Amino acid sequence: MLWLGILLWGLIQPPTIEFVPMYGGLGGGGPVEMNHSGCIAPAERMEVQAAIRRFQAINPTVMGAPSKYPMYPQSGNLWDDLFVNNFTDIDLTSGERDYECTNFVYNGHQGHDSDIRSFMEQELGYPVQAVLDGQVVATRDGEFDRQTSASGAPANYVVLWHGGDHLTYYWHLRRNSVAVSVGQMVRAGQHLGMTASSGSSTYPHLHFESWNDNNWFEPSAGACRSGSSQWQRQTNIRRDMYLREFAMTDQHIGNYPGLPWELPRKGTFAPGQQPLYWYMIVHNLPAFSNWRFRFFRPDNTLHFDTGTYGFNNTSPYRWAWFWWFWSFSTPFTGQWRIDAVFNGNVVASAPFFISNDATAGHGPPAEPTSVSLDPPIVRADRPVALRVRMPLIRHRNYHPVTYRYQWLVNDAVVREAEHGAHSDVLPVGSFQPGDVVRGEVIVMESLGNGRGPYGAQTIVDGGDANGDGCVDDTDLAIVLSQFGLAHPPADFNEDGVVDDTDLAIVLSAFGRGC
Ligand SMILES: [Zn+2]
Repeated sequence: MLWLGILLWGLIQPPTIEFVPMYGGLGGGGPVEMNHSGCIAPAERMEVQAAIRRFQAINPTVMGAPSKYPMYPQSGNLWDDLFVNNFTDIDLTSGERDYECTNFVYNGHQGHDSDIRSFMEQELGYPVQAVLDGQVVATRDGEFDRQTSASGAPANYVVLWHGGDHLTYYWHLRRNSVAVSVGQMVRAGQHLGMTASSGSSTYPHLHFESWNDNNWFEPSAGACRSGSSQWQRQTNIRRDMYLREFAMTDQHIGNYPGLPWELPRKGTFAPGQQPLYWYMIVHNLPAFSNWRFRFFRPDNTLHFDTGTYGFNNTSPYRWAWFWWFWSFSTPFTGQWRIDAVFNGNVVASAPFFISNDATAGHGPPAEPTSVSLDPPIVRADRPVALRVRMPLIRHRNYHPVTYRYQWLVNDAVVREAEHGAHSDVLPVGSFQPGDVVRGEVIVMESLGNGRGPYGAQTIVDGGDANGDGCVDDTDLAIVLSQFGLAHPPADFNEDGVVDDTDLAIVLSAFGRGC
């Protein structure tokens, strides 16, 4: 804990205003080690393998190459609101090695662990989808879903068969969220359940595991996993430093009871001497990093600069959380700002309110920075996601934010869902070649204030080269001007070149969506 500011403050404060001395500093936190053993407990794995054998006895399997995965089977965006904590352990001895030859694994891990931000967001909902068309082999539901230790407790889960000898596992699901039953046929992108922390789990995450020809395998390709990627479009490991959460409160974070409880959130503080508390999740913090905070008044003048202090981390922190506090009194009411400066770079610019009006920070959430369809050329044989990119601080008073999604095919609503994830998925089978697919989202704050809708649309199987949702002479001109070239937006059939097949696609879709 640091006690400082009294002497410096005495030098710079306006002499006509009486201030109570400021004090504060780094309160606590540190590196987080999520799930370092057994996502699937041995007894549970035996139970699942028995279910698979029963299924295979009546569904003969053949060996063969599995189909490629069109997208990660969980709502949210990888390395944005989702963080992949562990990959599979390529090293079959006691070592730990992921597909890029680093150590983002635990010994013997056989899947990908994608963490959401908090238990609060588990309650808001993070949907999990089938990665491919398939049939349900095994499920379990009804188990406690707020585990904080890898203790071998039973999980809620789904196992799917995709033909051949290809199986996928979806683990740690939320209690009473499993939406499919054994024997049911599912389509790629179809909702299976919600992300949670059931079973042998320390934090809400999806454990996604792939098996083929009686062996588990790593879907991602890299320096330590040769061959082609199992993903149609692989997202590689993010290694730059970034913040995944930032929030403020007036509650003493030192009194936090620990997981699975959610940290309090508040962004409006009454004038007067008080500690402000704030906390964050940070990833890829380099060794020997330093921090500094700068407080700005409503008129944007600098009120206080903490100076620079070390985290004293002698090794890099891949996943860490920290909290700070500062106590000060001020006569300046209105919207303030704290800038977080790590290693000389501003990594967050966080608003807060000093006001006698407790509702000063209420109101609509932040605007998305972008809303887009993924993939941009929607295919009838693949699911499509609507991806929302949000600023780090999603509400200026740190209220929980949800996303109200609506999907339309040829102007008819085909799916509605509201949850906490930064993307939603429309499964295969919901649309056909030539259909106009539109995704919309309204960003909702917990008090009911919304912002939007924001939307994006396109034509299934191509024709919309400029991505404006309508096939017209602009798209025709793009195809003609790129004829013979490799220009992905106009290469609708993805054969590497814009040619007469693409011209035929734009002509047959002409006028769609306009
Ligand atoms: Zn796992």
